[in-house]
Amino acid sequence: MTERADQQAPLQPMPADWRRALAVVAHPDDLEYGCAAAIAHWTDGGREVAYVLATRGEAGIDGVAPDECAALREAEQRASAAVVGVSTVEFLGHRDGVIEYGPALRRDIAAAIRRHRPELVITLNHRDTWGGADGGGNWNSPDHKAVGRAVLDAAGDAGNRWIFPELISEQGLEPWDGVRWVAVSGTTTPTHAVEAGPGLERAVHSLLEHKAYIAALTDQDPQEYVRNFLTGSVQQAAARFGGVPAVAFEVFPR
Ligand SMILES: [Zn+2]
Repeated sequence: MTERADQQAPLQPMPADWRRALAVVAHPDDLEYGCAAAIAHWTDGGREVAYVLATRGEAGIDGVAPDECAALREAEQRASAAVVGVSTVEFLGHRDGVIEYGPALRRDIAAAIRRHRPELVITLNHRDTWGGADGGGNWNSPDHKAVGRAVLDAAGDAGNRWIFPELISEQGLEPWDGVRWVAVSGTTTPTHAVEAGPGLERAVHSLLEHKAYIAALTDQDPQEYVRNFLTGSVQQAAARFGGVPAVAFEVFPR
């Protein structure tokens, strides 16, 4: 009963007093399926956003071998980032499908946070499921869980000079303790939202840049598929955000 009541509670507006955000996710398309409308809204407002992808998404298309697929999906990711005003896109080179949660992943993400020095860090659902109206829902992928958890941890690691001292001695990356929030997209328990607004149209085009991936995924018309998916997602958030189509996040303050 309590849980159900919480799931109807209004979402708070996303914090707005920041200049730089870093989005860290497992795969090409993870940001486009969840929160590109928010990214467009923020870059339009003059904020800097950079993307870091743990993998190049090489295991994402059944009919395409990993070497070929990695190059294809990296190019699609760069194109889709450009549509929402993001020109910095980095790939950490972890292996798609079998990303391991642990110190190596945390260190790579902490290094990225130190390089970019964001106040806001964004990632994708780190929980076991995607949730559902009845409390169940689809099982989440192991890569999303590993990366989401490592991002939440690395926000702290980035600020501590003693956890990965080699980042200073080998890469000259001084601690950055300026992350004020980690915002998780696609969780079962969002707390905040930001208006999708005109960013929604850009988000549609951003997701459509994953041409080869979407063509392999569905027989539906790509425009129709993408528009239905993204509109459904912002309408769901609208129900808890004063009727305003929005992108929802679960915000962990630091
Ligand atoms: Zn993914």
